[in-house]
Order: sequence, then structure tokens, then C-alpha cells
Amino acid sequence: MKDLPIDEGSEIAFCGRSNSGKSTLLNTITNNKKLAKTSKTPGRTQTLNVFCIDEFCQKRIVDLPGYGFAKVSKNLRKEWGYIINQYLSSRLSLKGLILIMDIRQALKESDLMLIKWSKKNYIPLKVVLNKGDKLSKSKVIKEIKSVEKKLEDLSFEGKPLPFSSKSLMGVDELRETLNNWFKI
Ligand code: GDP
Repeated sequence: MKDLPIDEGSEIAFCGRSNSGKSTLLNTITNNKKLAKTSKTPGRTQTLNVFCIDEFCQKRIVDLPGYGFAKVSKNLRKEWGYIINQYLSSRLSLKGLILIMDIRQALKESDLMLIKWSKKNYIPLKVVLNKGDKLSKSKVIKEIKSVEKKLEDLSFEGKPLPFSSKSLMGVDELRETLNNWFKI
């Protein structure tokens, strides 16, 4: 936490379970294949990475460590939870959260915790249903509807966004969300 940039300006944090495609998505929306490291081994990104997106680093993207990777020890998982918690509860420049989920495995326990946290703390959160290319169009629609219903049950406002780094669905919409939040 002490190594983070000064807590001023605007920060948007990206969170999600390991292997949700978070690093690939960051590379896609920034048009930079080398920005966030991607790997086929889930759980490799264990640090909090900050990317300055303007000259004076007043607008930043924060890549939070992926959670829920089964193969790591309980202690390490706890440590990740602690880091995410520390970040969320202290960062005043946080303007919004992008929650990335594999469309085939949406709304797991940790995802729900983040959604509830954002609501309680009035931090905007965008739900992204990633890897949309893995399902047929009709299954994507079905999945969106199911997630919408579950979000409604949580009194969460805001529509989930289907996304894919392969087919590029959702890229423009996600960029628009980021631009809007950075303007606030
Ligand atoms: P992270 O652990 O959440 O950062 O996930 P990565 O970005 O490293 O991606 C995990 C795996 O999912 C890799 O094998 C990626 O190639 C794959 N992946 C990421 N995004 C997509 C996508 O939009 N579609 C498909 N089919 N695979 C993806």
C-alpha cells in the first residue's frame, strides 16, 4: 500500500477471479498487448499493478490481484483478500470498479462480496461477463438475463456487459464507461 502513487486524481480498479481473462481484457481495452502480463496459469498475478494513463499520472488503472485460485494455500488466499480489502477501504481516489467474470462462471462468492461492498460504499461497479465468444449468441443472451435477475435480487442497478477479447464484443462500451468515470 505504501508504494502506491499519492492518493489523488482518479483511479479505476479491475478485479475478478483468476483466469477470468482480466489481464487479457486490460491489454485489449488499452490496445497494448504487453500491458498486463497474461498467462495460461491462473493466479500468477499476485501483486497490485498500477498503470498511469496520462502524463501526470492523475488517471490510473489498478489491476487488483485475481482471487479464488484453488491451487494456492489458504494463507496466501487470505493475504490476497487482505490486500484487496486494504486497497478498497482506504483509497480515496477510487472512482469505480470493473468486475470481470467468466460468463460461464458468473457471480461466485467473492464476486458477490465485491458487488455488495460497492453498493454499500457508493462506488460505481460495472459487471463484465467475459469470454462471451465461448458461448453461442443465444446462450450469451440467456446468461445475461440470468445475471440481470440475480443482480436485481441484490438491488444492484446497472446492466452486465458481455465482453470478449477474441471477438471484441463490448470493447467500445467498456472504454466509454472508463472515460465517463474518469471525467467525474
Ligand atoms: P487472468 O488470470 O484473469 O488475468 O486471465 P488471463 O488474461 O491470463 O486469461 C486466462 C486465460 O483465458 C488465457 O488462456 C487467455 O488466453 C484466455 N482468455 C482471456 N480472455 C479471453 C476471451 O475473451 N475469450 C477466450 N476464448 N479466452 C480468453
